[in-house]
Amino acid sequence: MSTPTIRTRIAPSPTGFLHLGTARTALYSWAYARHFGGQFVLRIEDTDVARSTQDSVDQILASMRWLGLDYDEGPHYQMQRLARYHEVVEQMIAAGTAYRCWCTPQELDEMREAQRARGEKTRYDGRWRPAPGKVLPPVPAGVQPVVRFRNPLDGEVSWDDLVKGPITISNREIDDLIILRPAPEGASADAQALGVPTYNFAVVVDDWDMGITHVFRGDEHVNNTPWQINIFRALGAPLPTFGHCPIILGDDGLKLSKRRGAVSVTAYEEAGYLPEAMLNYLARLGWSHGDEELFSREQMVSWFDGSHLAKSPAQWDPAKLAWVNAHYLKAADDERLAVLVAQQLQSRGLTAAQTQGLAPACALFKDRCHTTVELADWIEMLHVAVTPREDERAQHVTEAVKPALHSLRERLAAMAAWDKPSIAQAMKETLAAHGLKMPQLAPAVRVLVCGRAQTPSIDAVLALFAREVVLSRLEVL
Ligand code: GLU
Repeated sequence: MSTPTIRTRIAPSPTGFLHLGTARTALYSWAYARHFGGQFVLRIEDTDVARSTQDSVDQILASMRWLGLDYDEGPHYQMQRLARYHEVVEQMIAAGTAYRCWCTPQELDEMREAQRARGEKTRYDGRWRPAPGKVLPPVPAGVQPVVRFRNPLDGEVSWDDLVKGPITISNREIDDLIILRPAPEGASADAQALGVPTYNFAVVVDDWDMGITHVFRGDEHVNNTPWQINIFRALGAPLPTFGHCPIILGDDGLKLSKRRGAVSVTAYEEAGYLPEAMLNYLARLGWSHGDEELFSREQMVSWFDGSHLAKSPAQWDPAKLAWVNAHYLKAADDERLAVLVAQQLQSRGLTAAQTQGLAPACALFKDRCHTTVELADWIEMLHVAVTPREDERAQHVTEAVKPALHSLRERLAAMAAWDKPSIAQAMKETLAAHGLKMPQLAPAVRVLVCGRAQTPSIDAVLALFAREVVLSRLEVL
């Protein structure tokens, strides 16, 4: 017997950016499919007509591309599959596993009010649920019905969660959920004619139609899974394996949220993180392979078989992410970094011409940086005037050093080639002529030219500048 091909999916709702939690789920789904030689599907769950936007779809696709999470199929759009949901709903009504309900929102409010008053859990009371011998209320005029799933009244739903282990929820806990609604005002003609499915229904039809074998998602969906399993069963569809990953906590121990820092993949791209660092960091946030902290995507794929997923929530740790990013920055190709830094600098107003040829500068400074933004902060000084701190200037650019600075400037102006060995030679000659040591002269040059007293080797740094810039910054007498 051949085992079915593993098929996983990520199913974001296009109501904002790609959230870090969704990116992590996408990574796990992608790695699981790749590990087993299966397929990874992208589905856009855009049935929230009021909140879904094309801009958000574009952001999600861009973030997936940036992270290198390539999909084999999709993006599928739920709003393009309305006819299919409608068809399945009709089959379910005919089979008695779904029914129309004409309750008005007002009636539902009253129902919940009364339940609260009695100290009961609020739930749909089944007034339109057909049963042998039951007389249903008269269909009210002017009300568009919804369709509800006829959830089993008794028994329980159990599954063996890939992350959380065995979970059992009693059917008595869950009510007959709405699976199809009339379209909201302003929706397409298709939606008006066919209705719009709710998440718990569309997700089942899609996972079934798309042959999904493994569902990874955030554990905010654990409570939805019993309904989904019951719907799969009502449809006679094979059940996928579910894996619910714990939420990501902020560094304050509360749920990671927009109010407490960046939560979108895009924000980290803009803040100068490299995609391979994000992937590595996200992978470890809820999964481990021994003590490995730094690994390539290929290694992750070879290790990621669904085991060692953490049951407890992981904490977002900006310092660790910065450390991981610094590691990848050091290893990154300088030409690639030059392109990224050029983008950063152009967004700060530098011209395309000024941001050419930055690879040697990236090579020199990348060891000191955590992000390409920090790298750009260094390299900016090649073109943007620096303002040394008064105290540093007073400390290093002393009257005793000024004559040496003057003669260094003259040597730098006069020498034929502008390169690191010639600059080193000019420094050496100046020190000898003035009876100074490197630690007396170099910090003064650094403060004046770079605006800071500490930099990599001064000859290498100066060689990155245009000669006129160095000469004008050294003009202090
Ligand atoms: N659209 C849902 C979400 O973004 C998908 C959940 C699922 O993977 O089933 O949360």
